[in-house]
Amino acid sequence: MFNSGIVSRFSQLETPFYYYDLGLLRQTLQACQTAANRYGYHVHYAMKANFNEKVVSTIQSFDFGADCVSGGEVKAAIHTGFDKNKIVFAGVGKSDKEINTALDADIFCFNVESVQELEVINELAAAKGKTARVAIRINPNVDAYTHHNITTGLEENKFGINTWQLDDVVAALGKLPNIQFLGVHFHVGSQITNLEVFKNLCARVNELAQWFEDKGLEIKVLNVGGGLGVDYYQPDTNNVADFEAYFKVFADNLKVVEGQEVHFELGRALVAQSAALVSRVLYVKNGQKKNFLILDAGMTELMRPMLYQAYHEIENLSKASEGSHIKYDVVGPICESTDCFRKDVELPESFRGDLISIRTAGAYGEVMASGYNLRDKIQSVYSE
Ligand SMILES: *Cc1c(COP(=O)(O)O)cnc(C)c1O
Repeated sequence: MFNSGIVSRFSQLETPFYYYDLGLLRQTLQACQTAANRYGYHVHYAMKANFNEKVVSTIQSFDFGADCVSGGEVKAAIHTGFDKNKIVFAGVGKSDKEINTALDADIFCFNVESVQELEVINELAAAKGKTARVAIRINPNVDAYTHHNITTGLEENKFGINTWQLDDVVAALGKLPNIQFLGVHFHVGSQITNLEVFKNLCARVNELAQWFEDKGLEIKVLNVGGGLGVDYYQPDTNNVADFEAYFKVFADNLKVVEGQEVHFELGRALVAQSAALVSRVLYVKNGQKKNFLILDAGMTELMRPMLYQAYHEIENLSKASEGSHIKYDVVGPICESTDCFRKDVELPESFRGDLISIRTAGAYGEVMASGYNLRDKIQSVYSE
């Protein structure tokens, strides 16, 4: 991702900033598209992972659909040029205003998370003389074996409709004239690295799709969500996720009948590796028990480590990595004790002014930036 030319370019710039490698982004998108096309799969980009304009328009240019979780994202997807027939809208708490935005945009499908939401969408669609296409988001009770804060497909999670409520869904669908049932939707979690999880998901999808067919409801869309993980430990040697292996799990395990479409919603795996947060060392505090590197970036620029103990590789771009190393707690300037990127990071001896890069920051990074402490808005720098 970095070479001496890029680092010398950085030395002229004000920090902190997100650095986007657009070549790597395109390489990743191409790998995903090629693997998905083998099976005729439809891939929607989960916009919440990164809504940087340049990133999103690059993704749009590869002809992906968009997976939105707010009215704002639906508007941004339309604005970027995503085909409205490829926009899906999920979320456990869609407001009336957001539903109306999506109805006005004539999006492809609402992924509906409760019977009550189904009734509200029906009512709002009727008021506009429209029919809303929906998929039912089912909580399949499949363990994603990922961090508990990013697990979504267990019965204890707020997402989706639990299977014992599906009779109510079928009854409601029969009574709501402004709703068109398209199929079923699932999303069991994020940063999933064990492909067995997706195999387990396929088994549940097969059962549940059959259940709907038995009730006389035809399934046109099988939307299996996203969640494919990336390698946060080896961002250079493993910079593109294994999309071939991922889609093959579905090709081998998902039962698809004539006329059915299979949809995916990938966020992290498409964008995570293509960005780094670049920061400067402000101060070095050498203590008796601990050494601290105090950066000019903190949780206001990248919150993942503080929010769910996420691991990111950290490197000193100004120093050769050979030679003796010192352990530092790499922390930000924010007035919170949790404002720490990682403890006991082995780095070459570091000094005020050194450039530090925090890798694999393209997903759930810039999008979660906040103005806490009245910090300046984080800037972005691009490879081209
Ligand atoms: C966040 C989200 C995704 C994308 O998850 P990733 O782990 O980034 O692939 C997909 N679908 C839904 C419904 C989501 O909320």
